Amino acid sequence: MSAIQRIVALQKIDSQLQDIAELLGDLPVKVDALKNEESALIKSVEDGKARIKELGLEISKFDGQMTDIRVKIEKHKDQLFLLTTNKQYDALQHEIDHLKAGLDDIEIKTLEFTEEKETLEERIKSEEENLETLSKDLVERREKLEVLMDESSEEKTKLEFQRDKKRQDVEDTTLSRYDRIHSARKGISVVHVQGTACGGCGAFIPPQIISEVKAEKGSHTCDSCSRFLYWESV
Ligand SMILES: [Zn+2]
Repeated sequence: MSAIQRIVALQKIDSQLQDIAELLGDLPVKVDALKNEESALIKSVEDGKARIKELGLEISKFDGQMTDIRVKIEKHKDQLFLLTTNKQYDALQHEIDHLKAGLDDIEIKTLEFTEEKETLEERIKSEEENLETLSKDLVERREKLEVLMDESSEEKTKLEFQRDKKRQDVEDTTLSRYDRIHSARKGISVVHVQGTACGGCGAFIPPQIISEVKAEKGSHTCDSCSRFLYWESV
């Protein structure tokens, strides 16, 4: 087997591997993206629920405090009638005003917390709906991906094994050149000469080079796209 034939054989296997990768398409990327979206939603729902619980506890604590303060205010009001001096009366009235101000503060906080809790509950409701749709979609895509991967994995392993063997047959400098072109030219490093043109980019190939390519004398590359050239004998 000539040097160029070895490269052609390697290219064939690489192309088959590329076909398998294309069969899976962007499905693995999509599955990954959906998984990330799903975890972000789950986290947001969990955080929201924890905050709702916290707010609920705070609100009931405020309720208790407000009841205590109201009882105190009522008691003080009753005591007002029993007082004999203006000084005592003023002092108690001052205490009642102070308690009422405290009550107002707690009422405002309760209102704020209740609003936050309601907004969160709305958010979680819609997030849970999104999560349901997303999870369903994810399960479907994941199943599809698994089927495709199962179908192609045996073939892929076989081809990868063959590729490794073929690579051992190719000289190191040629191989690194092959790899460079492979990544620069979308996986096609070797093309056949079509008439007088490069089968990859269409550039003109001089007759002298064509005859050498035909005779498989060394390895030739296209001046324009750098791909290896070979002659396909039908
Ligand atoms: Zn070319």
